[in-house]
Amino acid sequence: MKKIIDQDTVNLTHLANVWDETKAKSYGDDDVALLLYRSNILGSDLRITNYAGGNTSCKQKEIDPLTGEEVDVLWVKGSGGDIGTMTKKGLATLYLDKLHALKKLYKGIRFEDEMVPLLAHCNYNLNTTAPSIDTPLHAFIPHKHIDHLHPDAIIAIAASGNGKEITGEIFNGTVGWVDWQRPGFDLGLKLEEALQKNPDLRGIVLGGHGLINWGTTAYECYVNSLDLIDTATRYLEERYGSRKPIFGGEVSKSLEKEKRYEQAAAIMPLLRGLCSDKNRMIGHFTDDERVLEFVNSKDLAILAARGTSCPDHFLRTKIRPLVLPVSAGDDLKDLTAVKDRIEKEFESYREYYTSYYNRCKDDQSPPMRDPNPVILLWPQVGMFTFAKDKQTARVASEFYINAINVMKGAEAVSEYVGLSEQEAFNIEYWALEEAKLRRMPKEKALSRKVAIISGAGGGIGRSIAKKFLEEGACVVVTDNQADRIGEVYEEFAGTFKKDVVTSCIVDVTKEESILDAYRKATVEFGGVDIIVHSAGLAISKPIVETTKEDWDFLYAVMVRGQFLLAREGVKILQAQGMGGDIVNIVSKNALVSGPKNVAYGSAKAAQLHMSRLMAAELGPQKIRVNSVNPDAVIRGSKIWDDGWAAARAKAYGITVDELPAFYAKRTVLNEEVLPDDIAEAVFAFVGGQLKKSTGNLLNVDGGITESFPR
Ligand SMILES: [Zn+2]
Repeated sequence: MKKIIDQDTVNLTHLANVWDETKAKSYGDDDVALLLYRSNILGSDLRITNYAGGNTSCKQKEIDPLTGEEVDVLWVKGSGGDIGTMTKKGLATLYLDKLHALKKLYKGIRFEDEMVPLLAHCNYNLNTTAPSIDTPLHAFIPHKHIDHLHPDAIIAIAASGNGKEITGEIFNGTVGWVDWQRPGFDLGLKLEEALQKNPDLRGIVLGGHGLINWGTTAYECYVNSLDLIDTATRYLEERYGSRKPIFGGEVSKSLEKEKRYEQAAAIMPLLRGLCSDKNRMIGHFTDDERVLEFVNSKDLAILAARGTSCPDHFLRTKIRPLVLPVSAGDDLKDLTAVKDRIEKEFESYREYYTSYYNRCKDDQSPPMRDPNPVILLWPQVGMFTFAKDKQTARVASEFYINAINVMKGAEAVSEYVGLSEQEAFNIEYWALEEAKLRRMPKEKALSRKVAIISGAGGGIGRSIAKKFLEEGACVVVTDNQADRIGEVYEEFAGTFKKDVVTSCIVDVTKEESILDAYRKATVEFGGVDIIVHSAGLAISKPIVETTKEDWDFLYAVMVRGQFLLAREGVKILQAQGMGGDIVNIVSKNALVSGPKNVAYGSAKAAQLHMSRLMAAELGPQKIRVNSVNPDAVIRGSKIWDDGWAAARAKAYGITVDELPAFYAKRTVLNEEVLPDDIAEAVFAFVGGQLKKSTGNLLNVDGGITESFPR
């Protein structure tokens, strides 16, 4: 077999060859196993390809289940997958000869999309994985192993004004060039033609898009990919700042780290509200140094307006970002001072997006999508991204950093050229992309919502957090005990992914501690929608034994804590202007008068009445305030662990195990009340079914006649 490259001459200076024969063998020893190993190691480095970007393939002989004869099968990444985490299930399989036979049916570029459903007819062995749109690229290039990647360094060259010449110069004519063309059947034919003309090529740069290259073995293909990317990276690095200063030079200095965080936290609720005027969005913030270099530069406005190039980048980031018209040093305690200016900028962005849609659409185009920006840049501070969920917002941010790298590289050697407006539109509103969007699973009840919960280190608060996460919310879990909240965070981050949960140690008796938690909520997710005060404790003593400290502590945690948590949360809800929910965990004792309970019972009554007062005041802003009254929820609670259960059991002359049944007997329904029962009640208020309910209370106590409201 003729070698594609001479591996002895490969000298990597930026990327590392991490191929490990033992690990490779652990995948198996056929070409498909090595394809998977290669894909996983390539996809684990963002310099090599972006999340879910690019695709890889191999061609292998298989036994046809229909004929029992040997056939050539193309194994290629499935549509929408990520090579870094791909398993065998993520590969589509297609008969190679049938793919080639499709050429006879091809009527030309105007009918290109008609070829896509035909790919399914080439399916080998009833595989249910849908093949990537790039399948023809892999099918029509004759080599055995193929990588199509989106490395920033190569895209920088692919998006340069004279990218073709630069490609020739860097690789001494061993790498070809194909002008920008949307991926699909026709691009596959163009690549086949390029290789027929020049069979010795080791790869081809796809104009405005990325790289495709190959090898006779999985390993050779891997080394070829690394060497091409490394060589391009080196070429760019040697030229940064030599043609002209990077991004035209620095015109502003970043704020200090803490100040950036503070300003980001202050402005995000306002931005989130504006980005959410059609659909509620979740936010993400980064002050990565590559972002700061770009936002502080002279060329920011010019380059941002050119939009991103690689179609993958662009689909995630929208055609262009919005640069905030606010000075980073502005005092943002009062947002009204900057609100008008930002609103106007959003208005003109939406108008621009609408006119772009109207200019480029044709009668086949899907309806216009949300015209709000996804990427917001703020000189001296960083970048905000907004999307339907946290992962999408984070990935959009990663993609714009890819785009920044591309612009930096392209501007170092030439002039950066974005996709033309019409080409960008054709990608954004491609019928195939629209179909992908329509296939998305239905969103959950709390998708796009952010919740903050006090006392989430155990018992009721923890159950509420879990329920919210199951229903799709992003959750900030808080508790005053570091070990408890650390444990809860670890568990939830494992079950629900790190993206959707964050934790904060919060002492609700301290104003600054509550402010910290909200800063975290806004910087992590863009703001807050649901506030649950679940922190509490029980002290039960006769009046003459109740100390001033007992009294003050109960009131500080439960009453003043509820007030402070609500007050600071309401400021954010008001800045967002999207309404919201406050749910306070009160108690049967807010309604029932019993002995030895003056401090606790009156604090609970204060919590209940405060909830009603807030409901009355905040209703016009669509902020609902409701209460849940649990009783005798002892399992999983702090007081249970602290020996309280043992003391109560002793007092009643029963064992600890008998305690739940003992409490259940005191209820009309003869039911023990569990933390999950309370979580269900809280969810009932915020899950969308009780939208017109505020100032209400819901008893979850197994039925206690004294606490029936009247
Ligand atoms: Zn691509």
